[in-house]
Amino acid sequence: LRPMDAEQLRECGHRMVDFIADYYKSMETFPVLSQVQPGYLKELLPDSAPNRPDTLDALFDDIREKIIPGVTHWQSPSYFAYYPSNSSTAGFLGEMLSAAFNIVGFSWITSPAATELEVIVLDWFAKMLKLPSQFLSDAPGGGVIQGTASEAVLVVLLAARDRTLKKHGKKSLEKLVVYASDQTHSALQKACQVAGIFPENFRVVKADCSKNYAVAPEAVSEAISVDLSSGLIPFFICATVGTTSSSAVDPLPELGNIAQGHDMWFHIDAAYAGSACMCPEYRHHLDGVEKADSFNMNAHKWFLTNFDCSLLWVKDRSYLVEALSTNPEFLKNKASQANSVVDFKDWQIPLGRRFRSLKLWMVLRLYGVENLQSYIRKHIQLAEHFEQLVLSDSRFEVVTPRLFSLVCFRLLPPTSEYEGGRQLNYDLMDAANSSGKIFISHTVLAGKFVLRFAVGAPLTEEQHVDAAWKLLQDEATKLSGSACI
Ligand code: PLP
Repeated sequence: LRPMDAEQLRECGHRMVDFIADYYKSMETFPVLSQVQPGYLKELLPDSAPNRPDTLDALFDDIREKIIPGVTHWQSPSYFAYYPSNSSTAGFLGEMLSAAFNIVGFSWITSPAATELEVIVLDWFAKMLKLPSQFLSDAPGGGVIQGTASEAVLVVLLAARDRTLKKHGKKSLEKLVVYASDQTHSALQKACQVAGIFPENFRVVKADCSKNYAVAPEAVSEAISVDLSSGLIPFFICATVGTTSSSAVDPLPELGNIAQGHDMWFHIDAAYAGSACMCPEYRHHLDGVEKADSFNMNAHKWFLTNFDCSLLWVKDRSYLVEALSTNPEFLKNKASQANSVVDFKDWQIPLGRRFRSLKLWMVLRLYGVENLQSYIRKHIQLAEHFEQLVLSDSRFEVVTPRLFSLVCFRLLPPTSEYEGGRQLNYDLMDAANSSGKIFISHTVLAGKFVLRFAVGAPLTEEQHVDAAWKLLQDEATKLSGSACI
């Protein structure tokens, strides 16, 4: 066995790149949503690992016949579900190089370039987003790459928890209260569970449907007042820029004022819509970020950076480090002991970390900010186009105003449908997704079952949006028996 023979890597690597390029070229021949049944793969693969080596050819055959049918093609141009998860040549090359070095960069010493590139690229990015200067690495703050937005909110919740417990005493844990809206991603609830926040102290404030499902600051204030009068300790507010269901934007300045007024941690989750805010015409959605203690966006969603790459900035890194650092003997080294370097192990949950800044650096270097802005704008224009198509067919309605590249819409139910359109729209989504031609997802807003059409895959063009709309119209016609208008 010569597992890292350079010539073998060259030969097999070229073949794999060819295989991947062919996959991308033939993407549209596959059903976007995998159509396999649960357990399908157990029927196709042996019960135990092979004792003798197999050939790469045999493996490619299995990938074609057994694996690809069970893949949902997130990079398909007809993928419109959830939020996107972009790949790109630059991101892909970065992943390759990161796999090549295969470092475990927990401390600066384990690969100085990994830490230093991460610091530099996150500073670049903070400047692109016009984040306040306190979030930069030469201030008390700084940026770090987490795996996901869920990890990002967990680490800042831990930092906030410990900051508050330091002030009120360790025994106050049961009194700590977290505030968010009913549109906040479930990642926050999970973070609360992990951080030991008492479940009854997770305050879910109903979003305001008259404000496109943004939370009303008065409602948050009121909840805080009630809790204060019961002797509880409000300590964390999470706002969202681009909620998961409808891409609503919470009122950051007002929520920030409330948080500052009560010495609470203010976190902003811009996992999806953060990317749009690098375009000047969308930057206003971040107004108020100067009041935040932490800000997060996923470069792996809508920024051409292959999964995973979630960017987190904090205004004061000392709280993160205090909550998460350890200093075992076996990791001690001169640079760390001298306090002259960043050790990102102290900004995250795991010890080990990948060289993820490479792919982000490559995306920025090989595409440049202007191209990246055009890319975002194009998706938003395509979503606008889809929205116009929906509006032009009186059988449908657009449910919430579109802010970015997500359109929330539904087929209007006949007045006789007692479920208010739930079954009808479920059937429409199911028919469209089962066709294999597109993949869309759903949500529920104010009790309405709503279809979500999110533009963001890197290969999507107007023709794909038009074809998706035609399919939805045809399926609607079949379901309701009425003619297209
Ligand atoms: N926050 C928002 C607004 C999201 O839309 C999502 C996922 O779509 C998340 C958080 C969770 O993202 P992750 O998978 O990176 O944890």
